[in-house]
Amino acid sequence: MRAMKYVFGPVSSKRLGQSLGVDLLAPKSCTWNCIYCQLGRSNRFVTERSEFFPRQEILDEIVEALGSATAIDWITFVGSGETTLYKGIGWLIHEVKQRTAIPVAVITNGSLLHLPEVRAELLEADAVLPSLNAGSEELYNRIDRPAEGFGFRQHLDGLRQFRKEFSGKLWVEVMLIAGLNDSDEALQDLAVELAHIHPDTVHLVVPTRPAPENIVSMPDDASIRRAVFILSQAAPVVHPVKGSMNLTGAADLLDAVTAIATRHPVQERELETALLDCFPGDPDAVRQSMDSMFASGRFDRVAQGSELYWIMKAG
Ligand code: SF4
Repeated sequence: MRAMKYVFGPVSSKRLGQSLGVDLLAPKSCTWNCIYCQLGRSNRFVTERSEFFPRQEILDEIVEALGSATAIDWITFVGSGETTLYKGIGWLIHEVKQRTAIPVAVITNGSLLHLPEVRAELLEADAVLPSLNAGSEELYNRIDRPAEGFGFRQHLDGLRQFRKEFSGKLWVEVMLIAGLNDSDEALQDLAVELAHIHPDTVHLVVPTRPAPENIVSMPDDASIRRAVFILSQAAPVVHPVKGSMNLTGAADLLDAVTAIATRHPVQERELETALLDCFPGDPDAVRQSMDSMFASGRFDRVAQGSELYWIMKAG
């Protein structure tokens, strides 16, 4: 398979099984500048929707990937910023659904759902996963740091309105950050807003990857348990374990790992596990492969807690 520009994976996760990712954006294009963003700080906001890349080119790549990949559970639109900034996502979802029975998911921050045309473009998706990280304006501004004109009330209204119009699965993602939104009060506020939105499930996630701001840290187990308990008032809470990579179908391991690291830091331990599937019973081959990939000069190693991550070298 030739190197892909928009399609990556399949990446394995508890929420979406084997998920074929489709990135529609130029990095980093976002309406928010979240303190936990794995893509780093937003140097400038992007708030205007546009067709960043030709839609037919993206569709051709998806079709090609579907022809060669096996066992895909979801096709997931996700990417280097806010997915619904791509004008034409509705056309892509429609075309993909004409060609395969594999369900389509859209990961979004939800900030454009107040726009009727954005909501309409997502109606054919099987699942939409928007973010809600705070139940108060103050915390929303501190955590998500939105562009001007993207206020908290507007965000909530967009989510509520979308729920009314969308008959697929609405899985709201909550990023739990120690010392910010994990207090009883913050979680109660969130539960109240989530109850108004009526999601099918709440997906509680934690910042396991390097964040641009050092105030971001993992909540402890007790906080996570408390969050699950309080948010369950609004909807069933899923607390996903971290996904793992699948590199077994990759034609070129270096390109495959580069494609993933361009989108988020790669945990070294996860990479090692994924490579063991490529070289079963041969840890020396795994080590050699990692050494040779790292020697390419494309990556830097950074520590986050007790874990090492590979990130793309700047420049
Ligand atoms: S919405 Fe997503 S891409 Fe945008 S800043 Fe937040 S985490 Fe990053």
